[in-house]
Amino acid sequence: MSNALERAYALLEDITPLTTDCGAVCDGRCCRESADSEGMLLFPGEEALLAGTDFTIRPADGGLLLTCGGGCDRRKRPLACRMFPLFPVLTEEGRVKAVYDPRGYRMCPLVRECAHVPLNRDFVRAVRRAGRVLTTDPACAAFLRLQSEEIAELNRLLKLEEERPPIARRKIR
Ligand code: SF4
Ligand code: SF4
Repeated sequence: MSNALERAYALLEDITPLTTDCGAVCDGRCCRESADSEGMLLFPGEEALLAGTDFTIRPADGGLLLTCGGGCDRRKRPLACRMFPLFPVLTEEGRVKAVYDPRGYRMCPLVRECAHVPLNRDFVRAVRRAGRVLTTDPACAAFLRLQSEEIAELNRLLKLEEERPPIARRKIR
């Protein structure tokens, strides 16, 4: 089991995108829709951390896909859910940046309204830190690189980076 994965889990254990419950605004749309979706891609080795849960995990293009019933034990949620709606991309210079995940555009109001609704700074930092920790595991670093390429490709169309980077200028109270 990857120590980097465990550290990334811990960094994102309690922190949330807003200091209030963002699910109260959208009725927890990411969880509701995930129950009908193809699922969340797991980081390499992550399945070992999820042993004993009720999730369904199956092989797919690019790795293992997890599906849930729309509810889970938060302490056992996968990394994709801990980081959503951000993702730690690896830049060509080898730096890690937390960016809005364009794959969440349709689902998540925080992505669509990124120009108007700043995120919790501590959450943004935790996603970035988790990304840095994950780069210390070669398999996770390779996975981050592939995902980063996919995100960059989508962002060429959506241009979310031009709207607003995901860090609040002032701390949200
Ligand atoms: S869809 Fe976005 S706003 Fe709604 S609960 Fe998920 S992360 Fe929060
Ligand atoms: S695994 Fe949990 S946090 Fe992730 S989408 Fe399903 S219910 Fe929501």
